[in-house]
Amino acid sequence: MATVNVKLGSIGSHWTAACKQAVADLNSLFRRKGVPVVLAIGGSGPTISVRTDPAIAGTAVHGKTSAETDGGGKLLKADVRLPVKLTINTPKGIRDAGTGMAEVIAAHEFVHALGHEPHNTHLMAQTLQKVLGDRAAGDKLQAGAIAMPPLQLSDDSIDMLKGLWN
Ligand SMILES: [Zn+2]
Repeated sequence: MATVNVKLGSIGSHWTAACKQAVADLNSLFRRKGVPVVLAIGGSGPTISVRTDPAIAGTAVHGKTSAETDGGGKLLKADVRLPVKLTINTPKGIRDAGTGMAEVIAAHEFVHALGHEPHNTHLMAQTLQKVLGDRAAGDKLQAGAIAMPPLQLSDDSIDMLKGLWN
């Protein structure tokens, strides 16, 4: 089983909580679906470095990820950048978005970092729509008919990750 280190920079308590949740929930999905890779914060193996980037708008629902691989396509290291602060429009004005929404964005970028380049469906959809919760904790991102969290990877994405990590 391959392990991948997730190294969290000074990204603030909100993103730290969201990234930890993304790691836990992706690991649980991978285990259930037989994807042979485990993410570990402060673990060993190739490293995904995570930081925030003021150049990414807080209204965005994505980050930016670049991954470096060896000749065989194996991950050497990856760099994930996230918006500094996520916001969502409400009838009462703009407020900070909840951790669940942040988790989906972090998880989307982590899966890119693991080598999943294309956008298809579910977590790896090209277009994710903000869904306003009654409270920040209920904010979600929607891909087609699927609102996350909980995180959902399509069968295509699972097969792609198995191919990359087997
Ligand atoms: Zn993407």
